[in-house]
This record gives sequence, structure tokens and C-alpha cells, in this order.
Amino acid sequence: GAESREQFDVVVVGGGPGGSTLASLVAMQGHRVLVLEKETFPRYQIGESLLPSTVHGVLKLTGVSERLAAAGFTRKLGGTFRWGANPEPWTFSFSVSPKIASATSFAYQVERSKFDEILLDNAAAKGAEVRFQVSVTDVIDEDGRVTGVTYTDAEGTGHEVGARFVVDASGNGSRIHKRVGGTREYSEFFRSLALFGYYEGGKRLPAPNSGNILSAAGDDGWFWYIPLSPTLTSVGAVVRREHAEKVQGDPEEAMRALIDGCPLIKEYLADATRVTEGQYGQFRVRKDYSYHQTRFWRPGLVLIGDAACFVDPVFSSGVHLATYSALLASRSINSILKGLVTEEAAFTEFEARYRREYGVFYEFLMSFYDMHVDEGSYFWSAKKVTQNKHTELESFVELVAGVSSSEGVLAGAEDATLRLKAKSAEFSDAVDAVSANSEGSMAPLFRSSAVQQAMQEGAQVQTRAFLGGDLGPDVPMFEGGLITSDDGLLWLPGKA
Ligand code: FAD
Repeated sequence: GAESREQFDVVVVGGGPGGSTLASLVAMQGHRVLVLEKETFPRYQIGESLLPSTVHGVLKLTGVSERLAAAGFTRKLGGTFRWGANPEPWTFSFSVSPKIASATSFAYQVERSKFDEILLDNAAAKGAEVRFQVSVTDVIDEDGRVTGVTYTDAEGTGHEVGARFVVDASGNGSRIHKRVGGTREYSEFFRSLALFGYYEGGKRLPAPNSGNILSAAGDDGWFWYIPLSPTLTSVGAVVRREHAEKVQGDPEEAMRALIDGCPLIKEYLADATRVTEGQYGQFRVRKDYSYHQTRFWRPGLVLIGDAACFVDPVFSSGVHLATYSALLASRSINSILKGLVTEEAAFTEFEARYRREYGVFYEFLMSFYDMHVDEGSYFWSAKKVTQNKHTELESFVELVAGVSSSEGVLAGAEDATLRLKAKSAEFSDAVDAVSANSEGSMAPLFRSSAVQQAMQEGAQVQTRAFLGGDLGPDVPMFEGGLITSDDGLLWLPGKA
């Protein structure tokens, strides 16, 4: 019964980067937090290429930056792309934006088993209690409010635990996300499948780009090639749903055929051997990963990370969205528990900002894919973008991809499809204008609203993590909206 239940302020379901980040930020305010994690750590997970705003923004706020820096992860200075017919790869670097100090213009390529363990250890160090090998089976619903969860331990014994707030951070396989109401809507646009495995001894890009993610388009889709250590490489092929048969059947053969269709990856793996033991010893397939839940919260329950939404593997936005949504949700919970704002106002703010960030990535990635589809091939046309001056191209991509924690920009839901179509066309035109421009100026791209949106409030979280109040006061996103405290950890009522 409710009287005998163990009671916490917050129960977090899932100890991935979303769950551990939220647990840290709430425990740091002195609240009682319990994390329930199904696996024992370390455990395998995909999603290895990070963005600077995660490393230097949100994860600086949780106090885990130094432990990450000491862990020896590969430093990622940017991304190197090889698309379409042009044989020359081009590189963007995180360091070209003057907004971001050079000391923070890198991210990491991480073995998620290690990364996720460091983050969850940090949550425990900040005061959260963590239980492993416990699988959450449902939420407890009392009088229209979620007041706890039920879970099963390793022996199969059922338990109940009470909470003022339950946070679903249990990822794409969440069993409880439906209990928020609404539905999980799968993207009509991003409908790809991924087949991935691990290799020892693959080639590296020349310094200083040896830690970059290499993305290469082949006949049937594109590859990620992520250097996890000097010798270990994560290699994944992403193919369109229409070509699903290419990743079905024997994975070894399927991967070989896909690699044969992509000369650059073939060259990079020429002397490599596939890992066949341990956590990296198998091929894995993922599909149906592009979706968003139509609601992100209800009284007592909030969804973050992949439990709520994910766009697409290109541009490494998954862990960013998971940790950023954890920051937004922790602000909400901390502010409600402090009595600063109502639950309704706090979670409305959370959902609005989270949807906006998701929308920015969705639109941006769609603009790129869409252009390319129009041309009958998978990615945007290399002939267009590689005609431009190197540094300008770098700064453009960096601004959009690296300045990922934009807190600007509204994303209304109703006319989304129409707006996205218009935006893709506009973006495509902007790229054409750049190509036609004899000076090779990137200015037309910066006038396109897709890019402006992604840039508008650029790197807010990252900057706030460094400057605090020196950044100047936040402005409400909508009438009656809340603003962020100087330290970035709370919501405050916006000025009337
Ligand atoms: P997760 O990392 O999924 O963690 C959820 C945790 O919850 C797990 O530890 C799980 O064991 C636990 N759990 C699940 N169910 C229960 C339960 N019932 N009870 C208790 N615990 C439970 N992102 C990037 O940033 N960069 C990339 O390069 C990238 N590449 C990707 C490639 C592919 C093919 C795909 C599909 C995704 C990729 N992503 C990438 C996305 C990334 O994997 C996710 O966005 C990220 O892991 C989400 O973090 P999370 O904390 O929300 O959930």
C-alpha cells in the first residue's frame, strides 16, 4: 500500500546519459533521487559521437567534465564528409566559430559502456541512489497523477516505490512512455535502418583530424566511421527503408556488400579485422528509431531522451538531446520542489524548449536529406557544397552542428510539414545561390531561416555553463513563459 512504500522525491527510470544527467542535477539540489537501471554497468549502447555543447555545456554543469577529460576518449575536432560524386572529402571543425572558445571546441568519441558508467557514477557521487538489474514494469497512477513505479528485481520479486516525480529516461525501448498519454509518432521522412559492427586496425584521417567522425556516402546509403581508440573503429551503414533487404540476411555478407559499395570505407578498412568477441563482437541492426511522443509530460511523469524522441544518427544529436532534455526537466523539477513555479508552468516550459530543440534538428537534417533525395541520390550534392571556400564551409557547418544547444526559435506543430517543405526548398535555393556566387561567399546560406534558427541563440547552455550571469538575462520564449536562472539550474518567473 501507499503508506508502506519507499518514498523518493524523484525516481529516474534508466541510467543512460539522460537519466544520469537528470539524477545528478536534481541530487545536487539536495533532493532524494533513485535511479532504477535494468542492466548492470558497464553495458553496451550505440551513440558514440558527441557534440561540444554536451561535453562543455550540460556535462560541465553536472561536474563530470574532469573525469571525462581523464578517461582518455578520442578527441573529435569536427567531422569529415565524403558525399556524392566528388572524390574529395571535406572537413568542418568545431573551432571556427568565434562564439566558442578554442579550449572547448572539441567533443569526444566515446565507448558508451565507459561513458555511461562515468556519468552514472557521477550521479551516485552527487547523492543519487542507483539500483542495477531492476526492471521498471509500470507507473503507479493515483487520482490522475503518477505517484511512483513498480519494478522487478533480479530475483523476479516485484516492488513499489513512491515518488513526487517519475522521469522516464529508459530510452527507445521504454515500457512506460505510453503512460504519459498521446502516441509515439514515427517520422515519415527519416525511415532508415542501420547495420553496425566494430573493427581493429582501420585507417585514420591525417592529423589533426584523426579523431573526427568520417561520414561517407555509398551506393545504398551512408556510413559512419568513428575512431573510438587509436585502433578500434565503430562502423555503421545507414540505408533507406526501401533498401531494407540490404541489411537483412547474413549480416557479415550484408556488411561486406555495403562496404564494397563505398570505396572510401573500403579503403579505410582494407587492413582492418572485424572484432568478433566481447561487447563489440557482433553485428547489430536498428530500425524505427525516428519518432517523437505527442506528449512529453503529465502530472507526476516526464519523458526525456530517447523515451521522448530521436531524429536520426547523422550529426550526432542523440546524446545532445538526451542530456539537454535532462537539463530542462531538472530545472523544472528543482523549481517546483523549491516552490518557485507551478508544475504546469515548469513542464510546459520544459516541453516547449525541448520540442523547439528537436524541431531545429529535425528541420536541419531534413533540409539536407531532402535536397539530396530530389536529385535522385541519398545525400546532398557534393558538387554544390564543395565548390565553396573551405573555411566558410567549415564555419557554416560548425555553426549549425556545433551550436546545437540553441534555446531560440519556435516550432509550432500544426503547419510543421508545410513549413518544413518550404524550408527545405529555401535551403536548397540558398545552397544553389552559394554555388552560383563567384566569390564563393556563404552569405546566402546564413540568410536561410533553417540556418538562422539553428544559430539564433547559439551555444546558450555552453556559454551559460562558463559565464553564468555574465551572459545577461534570459528572455521568455513565449508570453507567460519562464526564464533561466543565471546558473542555468532553475526556472524563474518571466517578467510580466
Ligand atoms: P539510453 O542510452 O537508451 O539509456 C536508457 C537506459 O534505460 C539503458 O541503460 C537501459 O538499460 C535502461 N532501461 C531500459 N528499460 C528499462 C526499464 N524498464 N527499467 C529500468 N531501466 C531500463 N547519438 C549520438 O549522440 N551520437 C551518435 O553518433 C549516435 N549514433 C546513433 C546511431 C544509431 C543507429 C542510433 C539508433 C542512435 C544513435 N544515437 C547517436 C542516439 C543515441 O543512441 C541515443 O539518443 C542516446 O543513447 C539516448 O540516451 P538516453 O539516456 O535517452 O537512453
